[in-house]
Amino acid sequence: MNTPPLASGPEGPDELRPLLDTVLDALGEGARLRNGPLPAGGPPEVAERMRAAVGDVLPQEGDPQALRRLVRALAKGSADPADPFCAAHLHCPPLAVAAAADLAVSVLNPSMDSWDQAPAASELEALVTRALADEVYAETLRGAGNCATSPHRPDALLTTGGTESNQLALLLARETLGPGVRLVCGENAHHSLPRSAWLLGLPEPVIVPTPHGTLDPAALETLPPGPLLIAATAGTTDAGLIDPLPEIAALCAHRGARLHVDAAYGGGLLFSARHRAELTGLSTADTVTLDLHKLGWQPVAAGLLAVRDAQDLAALTHRADYLNADDDTEAGLPDLLGRSLRTTRRPDILKIAVTLKTLGRTGLGALVDQVCEQAQEFAQLVHDHPDFELHAPPTISTVLFRPAGAPDDAVAAVRRQLLQDGRAVLGRARAAHRLWLKATLLNPTTRPADLAGLLHLVEGTTPR
Ligand SMILES: *Cc1c(COP(=O)(O)O)cnc(C)c1O
Repeated sequence: MNTPPLASGPEGPDELRPLLDTVLDALGEGARLRNGPLPAGGPPEVAERMRAAVGDVLPQEGDPQALRRLVRALAKGSADPADPFCAAHLHCPPLAVAAAADLAVSVLNPSMDSWDQAPAASELEALVTRALADEVYAETLRGAGNCATSPHRPDALLTTGGTESNQLALLLARETLGPGVRLVCGENAHHSLPRSAWLLGLPEPVIVPTPHGTLDPAALETLPPGPLLIAATAGTTDAGLIDPLPEIAALCAHRGARLHVDAAYGGGLLFSARHRAELTGLSTADTVTLDLHKLGWQPVAAGLLAVRDAQDLAALTHRADYLNADDDTEAGLPDLLGRSLRTTRRPDILKIAVTLKTLGRTGLGALVDQVCEQAQEFAQLVHDHPDFELHAPPTISTVLFRPAGAPDDAVAAVRRQLLQDGRAVLGRARAAHRLWLKATLLNPTTRPADLAGLLHLVEGTTPR
């Protein structure tokens, strides 16, 4: 048997070209066969089709058609966030230019755990993470003058997403304030925060009720003694709400508590001149979670944890002789191991860097504005429709709505029927003691007619 071709090296691109044609053709065929936002038939039918396409997972003799078959089957059976009726989760349609950049990463395969595996990628990561950290902390930096060389300047780490970022934020809080640090967060906070407290062996978190969807600073006035990490959210997963950051920041300063802001969703507003001010107060946080695979149109994974003071990251310093021996570091080889808890690590920075530079602030801001505007339009359609109820005007790009007068189980059934038929992917969320349908609008190509069509589809699926 011939050795299969490699992706990198001087011949790599020529070997790859026909395979890419196969992949692109199969993606197109799969999408045409699906003919909708997700495959019809529900879990049993989709699973059966996938089993049939895969056949023997590890056959004795290889199958040269495997690439075409499996890519086509995956595309046919996917929920496609580029379809305007696929709007359940913070699951964005990736930009073509970001996906293309990600291909280069797969080909070159740098690994971010040592300079000798990623000479240029490590510098790109350093440049882009610092620029993004400066973006998060711009308000503070303006106040402090130029501190580009200070060891206390902001910095950011690349993560696999909001979950890992939140986990790191709690770890840094523990390393700064000690193992007795207690997490305080709202009921509206992401589930990964209390889970990280559990993982890190921290005291039982204080979960503050959030009956109106955001963390009420007044509810933070009676807190237990001892070191605290208060976590606020900028863009809640369920409703896209932003906690009152300036008030919470003032309270943290008064109480001597550390502040983390989970801006996994809302962080993207930084790119928009129109919406940026909604994040006022963000720059007072010790740590900030960002997720560019949400309001940043990146393929998964594209998470970041920004820290106000790069010195906090010293807690992650770690040595493994084969990767960052002291004498190598002293001789000038960059030490990368302290920039993650992972070892082998993909340079997710390339697609982010390419996107920032290709679109610029104006281009990215326009995408953010576009999806926020769609949410306003969709909310207006719901509001104007006698058979629907709107939960609240949207803050970012999430709209909670429900068929007027329907019991919760009917609302849940509408969502499942749409999934079963493969006609729409809507989310669900609990708010004000009721169940709502959730439309998370992240597709900048969605048109007003699509929004009207989506509402019409839900109307037609609701039993009368
Ligand atoms: C999505 C989300 C997370 C988790 O991010 P992942 O990338 O899924 O790990 C954390 N916090 C908030 C507010 C989120 O919306």
